[in-house]
Amino acid sequence: MSSKNPPKPPAKPARVKASKLETEARGETFYPGPSRSQLGAYPPQERWDDWVELDSKSWPERVEKRYRLVPTTCFNCESACGLLAYVDRETGEIRKFEGNPEHPGSRGRNCAKGPATLNQIQDPDRILFPLKRDGERGSGKWKRVSWDEALDDIAGRIGKAIRDGRQNEVMYHVGRPGEDGFTERVLAAWGVDGHNSHTNICSAAARAGYELWCGIDRPSPDHARAKVIYLVSSHLEAGHYFNPHAQRILEGKKNGAKLIVVDTRLSNSATHADHWLAPQPGSEAAMHLAFANYIIQEKCYDREFVRRWWNWQEYLAELHPDAPATFESFEEKLAAEYAGYTFEFAAAESGVAEATLREVAEIVASAGTRLSTHTWRSATAGNEGGWQVARTLFLLNALLGAIATEGGTYPNAWNKFVPRPIHLPKQHPDKWNELNWPLEFPLSMYEMSFLLPHFLLEGRGKLDVYFTRVYNPVWTNPDGFRWIEALTDEAKVGLHIALTPTWSETALFADYVLPMGLASERHDTHSYETQDGQWLGFRQPVQRAARERDGETVTDSRETNPGEVWEENEFWLELTWRIDRDGALGIRGFAESKAVPGTRLPVEEYYRHIFENSVPGLPAKAAAAGLEPLAYMRRFGAFEVSKDVGQLFEVEVPESELVDIAEDRFGRVFTRAAATAAVNLAPTGAPAGDAFGRRAVGVRVDGKVLRGFPTPSGKLEFFSTTLAQWGWREVALPGYIVSHVHPRRLEPGQMPLISTFRLPVHVHTRSANAKWLDEIAHSNPLWLHPTDAARLELATGDLVRVETEIGHFVVKAWVTEGIRPGVVACSHHMGRWKLENATGPHQGQRQMMATVALDRSGSAWGLRRERGVEPYASSDPDTLRIWWNDAGVHQNLTFPVHPDPISGMHCWHQAVRVTKALPGDGYGDIAVDTEKSQRAYETWLAKCRPADRHSPDGTRRPAWLIRPVKPTPKAYKLPEK
Ligand code: SF4
Repeated sequence: MSSKNPPKPPAKPARVKASKLETEARGETFYPGPSRSQLGAYPPQERWDDWVELDSKSWPERVEKRYRLVPTTCFNCESACGLLAYVDRETGEIRKFEGNPEHPGSRGRNCAKGPATLNQIQDPDRILFPLKRDGERGSGKWKRVSWDEALDDIAGRIGKAIRDGRQNEVMYHVGRPGEDGFTERVLAAWGVDGHNSHTNICSAAARAGYELWCGIDRPSPDHARAKVIYLVSSHLEAGHYFNPHAQRILEGKKNGAKLIVVDTRLSNSATHADHWLAPQPGSEAAMHLAFANYIIQEKCYDREFVRRWWNWQEYLAELHPDAPATFESFEEKLAAEYAGYTFEFAAAESGVAEATLREVAEIVASAGTRLSTHTWRSATAGNEGGWQVARTLFLLNALLGAIATEGGTYPNAWNKFVPRPIHLPKQHPDKWNELNWPLEFPLSMYEMSFLLPHFLLEGRGKLDVYFTRVYNPVWTNPDGFRWIEALTDEAKVGLHIALTPTWSETALFADYVLPMGLASERHDTHSYETQDGQWLGFRQPVQRAARERDGETVTDSRETNPGEVWEENEFWLELTWRIDRDGALGIRGFAESKAVPGTRLPVEEYYRHIFENSVPGLPAKAAAAGLEPLAYMRRFGAFEVSKDVGQLFEVEVPESELVDIAEDRFGRVFTRAAATAAVNLAPTGAPAGDAFGRRAVGVRVDGKVLRGFPTPSGKLEFFSTTLAQWGWREVALPGYIVSHVHPRRLEPGQMPLISTFRLPVHVHTRSANAKWLDEIAHSNPLWLHPTDAARLELATGDLVRVETEIGHFVVKAWVTEGIRPGVVACSHHMGRWKLENATGPHQGQRQMMATVALDRSGSAWGLRRERGVEPYASSDPDTLRIWWNDAGVHQNLTFPVHPDPISGMHCWHQAVRVTKALPGDGYGDIAVDTEKSQRAYETWLAKCRPADRHSPDGTRRPAWLIRPVKPTPKAYKLPEK
């Protein structure tokens, strides 16, 4: 894609302090930046302004090409790996993306999806201009509008909703944030409790498991230094923090670590494992409990760690009030509590042999404090009670004292850095939004996002302005037809704005489609827990940065982006400005420049302020390189804030903070001053407050006040007082919940369907616009064990009908020994579609979307594939070379909602019946009855224990539990009956 204005001729390269490649004793050459990689082919920093390579397309002629290398950050999964864009100095075009060796998380490496960013920016089907619906919703008719027209319309509606007191009719629903809290602060500044996320279809259960233990909702394993690595996921090809973790797992293995992989399906990770455990789906917690029991009965736990850091005193007080309040007494009770979780029990639940379980238990126990464990989506996201998979996994770390140790697992907040921005919101939402945070789910980890259409359709509220942002619920979420029913009802959704770089099944049902920048077209900062350390990454529009290096002034990313593609930060600042032009609503200040009061804050000033004032060590490091902090980040794209963070819970609280304190009977220490609450800017690791709003500062352990953990007790919560007090006393300890797809809960003829795995080269809904990836993977057959295939008389390639609770889908069979007998699996990263009715330049993404027809008769919906993917003429000659026809099958449409009553997670696994396809069935066919969807929703809702019946203190939710955009304490109060 050409940039609009050709760049100036190459200027003299800026002077950057030169660095030498370091040479180790062995004579190997290492890159001097944070990657310390042996790949000496990384261009040295001092040549990033004028890097010369031979042009591959001119071969056999030797034509030299000169590039300016500009860092940015990948936007294809959450890992936020560093990229280095090669910007042609003559044309200004980006030639390729490679890894950024200056990035401490990814260390110069990427997965296939990183370099494929090039396909995405050159995608001939991408959306380049703001579009407005020009017919019925979903009609496929669009007209081009100006940004001004769209902004004024949207800002006018939001401003009116705020002035009318209808803040809860404004909602922002995000799939991939790709930034740390920017938009959450925007919403808080508006006073709107309208942040909605995709968390409940992704990670809510894993988060709940960790949050209940330590008050921080993610793990950060130190795989590279571990003795034993235990994964309940498929990290080496597709897991969470995929590339950064995968490279560290291999490093750990190289150093002699044992790798244990729990996955019912033979993942690539499993092929590298010393032990691959393929349990019955949903039995993972039973195995963990057997390992824990072994560690307890064999007394190989870290006694001193457990004594100091578990909340065993509360456990005894609550469950054994007559027992002596001593640690020895606790040990007795602990042994008795877990004695029933034998290898025999776990083998019966999981189908894994007792001898194997014993062998793995011995390996886990031998790790000591060097046990790195991780689970994220996988089993936690598949099963009812999946949060106990994470809670029992972390139990192993907690027993061995392998928490925040070298080679252990850290709470993520300590391995993440969120800088303070130029403006903090001056207000907090005063109204609780029950469309996101319904009374039924007081303990849910984040918003009940996937129930939104049900809530709207049953009249719990309506939306006047609804943003979907890099989010495609019609395709990604369960019950997609319910989403279409809600999105096409203008009485329920007044204005739907899809902020997206590319077409999606959800954008088809929008009123505005506004083109947003891809990885190399936008600014963001971000930081993730990829290792024991903290780093800050900087995503930037690379053509803008390249121009600025040449001395040009760019004030708006649209000046250098293709078409009128914008970046979200500028969009949100401009929208905020227009909502409150005269400042009467008290909102405008959030978007105002400090340098030039009365004008809108430019992103340049926003990031300059952060890098100059909020990142420890960056100004000094930049100065040493002869650069301003912003220029340093523009040049290198990332900064390492700290390394080897260690056990922050052991840090002693200074005397100066222990003024006017109170202490509860278990040693939790509070200041008497009221907690400054409400907006949670660093969504993890915030200190817990008590019921009276006092701020917890530490916990007394062996006479000293230490920082502890951000839990109510300040300790690791083996016994969760929160669960006990909010109606779930029977599951307050790490334990076992029988999954909804456990064999005991299946009807005759049903099998569990695993639908939570992904293909390594695709990411949910955002990679169909990458032709290289589409060519590699464009199908999602049903994994079926040979014994099941024989029973069902199926062979690879046969059409199969898979019946769920609400309908069926038709897919091809793939017979493989890589799946447990009696279980089937299907990747959820396929089955993209577009409608026949879209015409002209807005036909959707044509490289990986089949063309389908939708049918509706009352509650009966059908989707039938009209055509697969085909070659087509476009600005990219490769689109005429498309040889694949398949685009996979959209199985998620046939899944009803399964909200876990505690974590709120959608429990993805399905109980299905698999048969040969019936006469008339076609590949990709979908049929669903949304009346059945409604019944499934009601069945699962009935499992809940709502706040208005179970709250111990008259609030809607425990104040200490994480919640993006926290409203005021007043909003936390339950409504009067
Ligand atoms: S793991 Fe791959 S997709 Fe994810 S950020 Fe890194 S390069 Fe991009």
